[in-house]
Amino acid sequence: MRYLIVSDLHGNSEALAAVEESARGAWDDALCCGDLVGYGADPNAAVEWARRTCSLIVRGNHDRLCSGAGHLDWFNPSARQAAEWTLAELTPENRAFTAALPRGPAVVEAFRLAHGSPLDEDTYVSLAAEARPIFTNCGLPLVFFGHTHQQGGFAFDGERIVEIPPPPPGREANVIWIDPARRYLINPGSVGQPRDGDPRAAFALYDSSSGRLELRRVPYSIGQAQEKIRAAGLPERLAARLAAGR
Ligand code: ZN
Repeated sequence: MRYLIVSDLHGNSEALAAVEESARGAWDDALCCGDLVGYGADPNAAVEWARRTCSLIVRGNHDRLCSGAGHLDWFNPSARQAAEWTLAELTPENRAFTAALPRGPAVVEAFRLAHGSPLDEDTYVSLAAEARPIFTNCGLPLVFFGHTHQQGGFAFDGERIVEIPPPPPGREANVIWIDPARRYLINPGSVGQPRDGDPRAAFALYDSSSGRLELRRVPYSIGQAQEKIRAAGLPERLAARLAAGR
């Protein structure tokens, strides 16, 4: 099966349209590691895209909090302001759908889908030192996760952890082949708010029959997404960071 794997859409429909166009014809089933909403100005469009496109979506922390299913106290001021705006903006149907998303990790064939760490949905996995206890405590061969908005991941051979980088700026894709003798934690990157220094929208294509994994980036109309954020009265920082990819 050829999967399109996306994460951290964050209400950015310009980025989503570019991802959809870039991935056209390359997948049979789509999966999402969560955070459909929050930060961006098009939460309803992102939820509706995910509803019609993805066969499985695990909830992200923003999905939980922007749909009224949790406390906003532990968000920073701009995330909190965006969450309150999103809560008011979502249609009742989209809010109910978002609030009911299942908690990860979810099982797909022999792999898993999680928002943060497969051990805890709210825990960030950015460093090899943070990946190690996951590799040693659960014997999962392959986990796709999001939450950090950093494309790439880690491979573990039972001893050493090797980092898998995103494609460098100027290159569209980084292709790796999943080795059944190793374990992997793979982040497809963020569609709607990348934070790894590359402002292009990020996603992954994974073919479970051949083991081919592609981490791909695609440019999109950042200016248009920024204009909508400003027009919605959301914090300027949320517009500015899209151009920086931070
Ligand atoms: Zn996120």
